[in-house]
Parts: sequence; C-alpha cells; structure tokens
Amino acid sequence: MKPVNFDYVRPRDVEGALRFIANDERAVKIMAGGQSLGPMLNMRLVQPDLIVDITGIEELRQVEEKNDTVVFGACITHADIEDGRAPDVTRGALRTVARGIAYRAVRNRGTIGGSITHADPSADWISILAALGATVTLRGPEGSRSIPIENYIMGALEADLRPGEMLVSVTVPRLSAAARWGYYKSCRKTGEFAHAIGAFLIDPERDVCRAVFGATESRPIVVADARRLLGDSSAPSAGFDSRLADELVEAGGMADPIDRQIHVAALRRAVEQAGAA
Ligand SMILES: Cc1cc2nc3c(=O)[nH]c(=O)nc-3n(C[C@H](O)[C@H](O)[C@H](O)COP(=O)(O)OP(=O)(O)OC[C@H]3O[C@@H](n4cnc5c(N)ncnc54)[C@H](O)[C@@H]3O)c2cc1C
Repeated sequence: MKPVNFDYVRPRDVEGALRFIANDERAVKIMAGGQSLGPMLNMRLVQPDLIVDITGIEELRQVEEKNDTVVFGACITHADIEDGRAPDVTRGALRTVARGIAYRAVRNRGTIGGSITHADPSADWISILAALGATVTLRGPEGSRSIPIENYIMGALEADLRPGEMLVSVTVPRLSAAARWGYYKSCRKTGEFAHAIGAFLIDPERDVCRAVFGATESRPIVVADARRLLGDSSAPSAGFDSRLADELVEAGGMADPIDRQIHVAALRRAVEQAGAA
C-alpha cells in the first residue's frame, strides 16, 4: 500500500513550522525521523494533506549543557546520543539505552522528540526519561509550556500535544557523581520493542529515588519515591520488595499476573543493576 497524496514542506525555523501546523483547514502532520510515521502513512492509518518535515530546523538539532541539566533539541537522533555527539549527563544511562533501540538504520534517523510523541508504550526513551525525571517543552499558539514526561504520555499512542503545538526540546537533569541507575529491557531479541521494561534511579545527593515499569499497555507506571521498594536497606539490591512492586503494577492497571511478574522481574533486575554499578 502507498500513502495518499500529500504536500510536503521543510521549514527552516520553529516559527515557520508553527505557521504550517496552525493551518486548521488541512490535516497537517509533523514528520521527524519518519520511522514510525512512514509505516503509518504507507498503511494509510494517517492521511495528511500536508507533511511538515522538521528535520531542517537548526534549533531542534541543538544541545545545550547547563549546570544542572542538558537540553536536547527534539530532532536529536538516537544515534547522536549513542555516539556521544550529544553530551550525556546521566552517567551513561542515555547512551546505553540508545544503543538498545531498534537497529542502527532506525537509530540514524529516529529522533528523541518523535519517539516520545509517538507514545508507543514499549518505546525506550519514555521509560528511561521518566526514571531520570525529564521534562518536555512544547511550543504552540499559546506560547511555551514544560511538563514532566510522564504527564506528556497520556496513553498508548496518545501524547498531550494540543492543536498547533510541537515538541521542541527535552530537558534531562544532571545526575550527581554518586547516582546509580539500572535499565532492564525484556525483549525476544536485540533491537526489538520491549514487552517489559524496568528503569531505576537512585541519586541520594539530590534526594531522588525513582522507578518506572515501562512497556505496559498504556502510560508508564512511575514510582516517584521508590525507596519503599528497597525495603529497610538503602542499598538498592539488598531488599527489593517484589510483593509491593506487584501491588503497584496491579494498581497501575495491569491485571494479568504473568504480565505483572515479568514487569516486576524487569524492575528487580534494574534495581540489582544499580546496586552493582
Ligand atoms: C524496525 C523498527 C524497530 C524499532 N524498535 C524500537 C525499539 O526497540 N525501541 C524504541 O524505543 N523505538 C523503536 N522504534 C521506533 C523508533 O525509535 C522511532 O524513532 C520512533 O518511533 C519515532 O521517531 P521519529 O523521529 O522517526 O518520528 P516520526 O516517525 O517522524 O514521528 C512519529 C510521530 O511523532 C510526531 N512527531 C515527531 N516529532 C514531533 C515533534 N517534535 N513535535 C510533535 N510531534 C512530533 C509525528 O507527527 C508522528 O505522529 C523502532 C522503529 C522501527 C521502524
């Protein structure tokens, strides 16, 4: 099957892109790496009148390193992070996760902003960025707003993207030198989408301990204070409370006990990884 006919523009700046996106007389679709949109176009699941290709916008290819954060432009690719062209302030977490996304050809084109906005529950960025406490910044007709990534993801393939808006950047906090993280992706073979993800961060200097059950059927389940999962000990792998973890995923809407067990095991392994680091 082939896409329906559509017009194509490649603006040079965000303002130009926003002018095209604001057009409410036509069905407009943003395209970044095209790795998810391409198949959807081919299957005619989306039938736009106009494609706005944002990969020519220099601002979206920028990375700004600050004291406490790094800000990634929406069109930074997975390969940019994997290859270290974008600085990693997460003690290797982002780089390691990037390496496990799909295959190199996909990583060369796929972007952080596209992956997040596509909101596939099995995608890797959503889970690790939620564990790291990242925020996304949207720009649109009403101006700019920044929200935690877990609030941006509203459900499967559903992001909180309002009419006329686009995602312009992702802000990731800088981890302290004592921070430890773990990421466990359960999938049949390397490069495939996950069927369960566990992501964990403990950063005592910043008083942060977060856990994420990812690759659920909807949005990731974020445990903002995950210390209670570690039992009495502050050493991450010493006393992982599988029963509490199971309760948390069940409360998050996961009914199937086998599914829950796989997700709990994925998080336990992420916690163990953090303990071993
Ligand atoms: C074979 C294959 C295997 C894959 N395996 C994995 C995997 O293991 N893990 C994983 O995480 N991902 C995987 N992916 C997905 C891949 O990571 C893509 O990068 C991602 O799904 C989409 O990113 P993109 O830049 O190509 O976005 P596009 O396909 O261009 O766009 C996706 C959606 O986001 C919207 N969009 C894009 N950018 C913006 C923006 N800045 N603002 C607002 N809306 C925007 C588009 O309108 C579209 O709706 C895989 C893809 C393929 C083809």
